[in-house]
Amino acid sequence: MRDYDLICIGCGPAGEKAATQAAYFGHRVAIVEQNDTPGGAMVNTGTIPSKALRETALLCSAFNRRPLPGMNFRVDHNVSVAKFMARRHMIEQQEHDRIESSFDQQGITVHNGRGRLIDANNVDITNQSGEKHRIRGRFVLISTGSSPLRPKPIPFDHPAVVDADGVLNLSRIPARMIIVGGGVIGCEYASIFAEINVQVTLVHNGDHVLPFVDAECRQHLVQAMTYQGVEFRPNCAVKTVEPQPDGTIRVVFEDGSNALTDVLLWAAGRTSNSQNLGLETVGVELGERGLIKVNDHYQTNVPSIYAAGDVIGFPALAATSMEQGRIAACHMFGQSFKSKLTHLMPIGLYTIPAVSMIGQSVDQAEKAGHEVVIGKAQYRYNARGRMLGDEQGLLKCVFDRQTKALLGATIVGEDATELIHLAQCVIANGGGIDYFINTCFNYPSLGELYKYAAYSALQAIGAKRDVMKAA
Ligand SMILES: Cc1cc2nc3c(=O)[nH]c(=O)nc-3n(C[C@H](O)[C@H](O)[C@H](O)COP(=O)(O)OP(=O)(O)OC[C@H]3O[C@@H](n4cnc5c(N)ncnc54)[C@H](O)[C@@H]3O)c2cc1C
Repeated sequence: MRDYDLICIGCGPAGEKAATQAAYFGHRVAIVEQNDTPGGAMVNTGTIPSKALRETALLCSAFNRRPLPGMNFRVDHNVSVAKFMARRHMIEQQEHDRIESSFDQQGITVHNGRGRLIDANNVDITNQSGEKHRIRGRFVLISTGSSPLRPKPIPFDHPAVVDADGVLNLSRIPARMIIVGGGVIGCEYASIFAEINVQVTLVHNGDHVLPFVDAECRQHLVQAMTYQGVEFRPNCAVKTVEPQPDGTIRVVFEDGSNALTDVLLWAAGRTSNSQNLGLETVGVELGERGLIKVNDHYQTNVPSIYAAGDVIGFPALAATSMEQGRIAACHMFGQSFKSKLTHLMPIGLYTIPAVSMIGQSVDQAEKAGHEVVIGKAQYRYNARGRMLGDEQGLLKCVFDRQTKALLGATIVGEDATELIHLAQCVIANGGGIDYFINTCFNYPSLGELYKYAAYSALQAIGAKRDVMKAA
């Protein structure tokens, strides 16, 4: 039986980064992966494929967004989603190579097969031919991720009814698509498919999609998506899904209405892959919806067993899963190098336009006792924003009125997921209005939006002073 310092079950971003972090400190590490390729949902079914599809969609729509007389481009709807995303495979392959060569360099052993805990230190691995072997670890990290939720009555065996994994294998780009789910995945795919002229209906059960996004920025996103052609159906639930003889799907809603579609994408919820891992046998505590319970160091109630990534729940992002894996590995081996997840976590939504946020929202800042002032800048008044043809883009900053410190920011618009990192640095370093006013940005650049947001906040502060003076 092979003996290791750390065994990671699952080779997504959480497992990969925990493994390389531990190996970096000189520990013997094994990683157990049931798939033939490493990378988990991040590389194979989620983050990278969906973002590759987004980039291709934007490439195809570039002439519509920034019109040039005589230049036109339309997507051939007979092409398969897989072909349309040819670049995805290249990027995935490069990611597989990167991960495998980093494991080789660091002496990390990969065991192919399904891992299952036998006790607090031993893991049984069953490969695809059913052969079993056992390995032992001083520590074990559960990094098995999550899977799309598949409600029983929905006929996922029909080729036109897909979840977030299946959508990548559609045999052709549909003319019509109903997407169920107003969360990140539903909105991202709605805007991506609408961008290539698919007639998209987005069905969700609340008043708003993405309820955690600043209401004004969300409104800009919804407007932009509506303009793209997305039809939003709020407060709407699916009653039945009925495959038709011609291959289309009739979706019947709870309110009695119904609609025909070429593809139904079910993107409402994910479930933690915490089953069949032997966790009950070992006594690892599970919380709501099967999520593994951990402390701030990603350690479960069984001291030798840690868990990180989607399997522990919110925020369930590749970005945070990587950090959690690294922090767990540091804690196991008493390394103070990295001890907790930053409280300044950016959230990025790769919708079209993208949305990104950092720090405190207006409500959170007010609840924390700040007197806030808002600074805003619109892409349409920014030279680079105009070149990009972004009409809806908005940067919204939340500042403390007294200290002028930046407390939070939300951006909706092109490059929002990159641009947010400037706000992240400024918040981390205690900067704010004065920094933005005094610094010099490239011109033309989206970075300049921060300067104009700061000026608008200053104006708001001045306006309040004038009102008070007048009174
Ligand atoms: C459509 C979509 C878009 C996304 N976009 C983004 C984005 O833009 N940005 C972002 O930060 N995040 C994004 N995410 C989320 C991100 O992909 C996940 O948060 C991240 O992959 C989770 O990492 P993980 O390591 O916890 O698990 P996963 O990446 O799910 O990896 C788990 C691995 O464990 C393996 N496994 C499971 N059980 C076993 C077992 N018993 N034995 C052996 N191996 C096992 C699986 O095969 C898999 O390889 C997106 C997700 C989806 C679905």
